[in-house]
Parts: sequence; structure tokens; C-alpha cells
Amino acid sequence: MTLTLAIVGRPNVGKSTLFNRLVGKRLALVDDQPGVTRDLREGAARLADLKFTVIDTAGLEEATDDSLQGRMRRLTERAVDMADVCLFMIDARVGVTPTDEIFAEILRKRSAHVLLAANKGEGAAADAGVLEAYNLGLGEPIRLSAEHGEGLNDLYTQLQPIA
Ligand code: GDP
Ligand code: MG
Repeated sequence: MTLTLAIVGRPNVGKSTLFNRLVGKRLALVDDQPGVTRDLREGAARLADLKFTVIDTAGLEEATDDSLQGRMRRLTERAVDMADVCLFMIDARVGVTPTDEIFAEILRKRSAHVLLAANKGEGAAADAGVLEAYNLGLGEPIRLSAEHGEGLNDLYTQLQPIA
């Protein structure tokens, strides 16, 4: 059985960008897969010699009447329950927001393994946000740039012992 990694975090931090980078062309469309709804995208990921399943919580970006916080909680809890590991992502250029704090709280209560990613980590504009991420109490933040493909070696280092 392969490891399942769920990427969670508030909208616009770069979850789908990382998902696409990890999955490449091996995207499995969720519509074909029983038990996986449209709000969660699932794909076959590869990172160096690690092969695993990655879940992107995609439904948060859709505008509905439902509050973001309610959808966030439900989607995140579903993803956490499906996953062996959660990668919690923040935007290092913005730093830790109150919404991020809510996610961190859900994950601390619900998930066995949580990795913390400070994305958009390219350049000095991210330095303060990366440091702030330590305050979440979820371990050492992995400084990532999903868009530029930087920091994947550090993701590997944290994922490899679990996988
Ligand atoms: P999601 O809502 O969390 O899935 O975020 P997306 O993957 O859709 O990305 C939101 C925006 O952030 C897009 O415009 C991306 O191009 C941008 N983005 C994603 N990763 C990075 C990164 O590492 N650096 C920068 N500067 N922008 C990024
Ligand atoms: Mg997305």
C-alpha cells in the first residue's frame, strides 16, 4: 500500500501548484474514483525515489453560500482522514494568518503526521514568514517554492522516513 499525502491550507497558498508539480502528467481524475468527491483531487505522485498518492483539497476556492470556514473544516477533515500524512501549507510571503491558525488547530487534533510547508519561499520577501511558521508548533517549516520547484529536497528529507 502506498502512502497518501494530503496538501491542506487556505486558498491561494499554492497547494494545486505543488500538487501539479508532484503529479506531473500522472493525474488521475477524481471523477473516476469511487469515494473521492470533486472537492478532493487525487493523483499519483513521485518525488525522487518516493512514490505516493497525493490529495489536493481543491473545493475551497469555489464560491458558494456556505462559509469558507465551514467548507474548510469539512474538506480538511475528510482529507486528513484519507491521508497518512498532511502537508500543511502557508504562504511565506504573507506569514501566518488567523485562518492558518484554525487549520493548524484542526491538524493538531486530527492528524498523526503533519508536515509544515512555507510556500512562495523564493526570495528574501519570504524570510520573515518562514520564521513565523515555527510559531505554529508543527515542527520545522519546509521552505518551498512550488512554482519554481525549490525546496523539494527538504520535502523529501521530511517525507522519506515516514514513507
Ligand atoms: P491553492 O489555492 O492553494 O491551490 O493555490 P494555487 O496553486 O492555485 O496558487 C495560487 C497562486 O499562487 C497562483 O497564482 C500561483 O501561481 C501562485 N504560486 C504558487 N506557488 C508559488 C510559489 O512558490 N511562489 C510564488 N511566487 N507564487 C506561487
Ligand atoms: Mg487549488
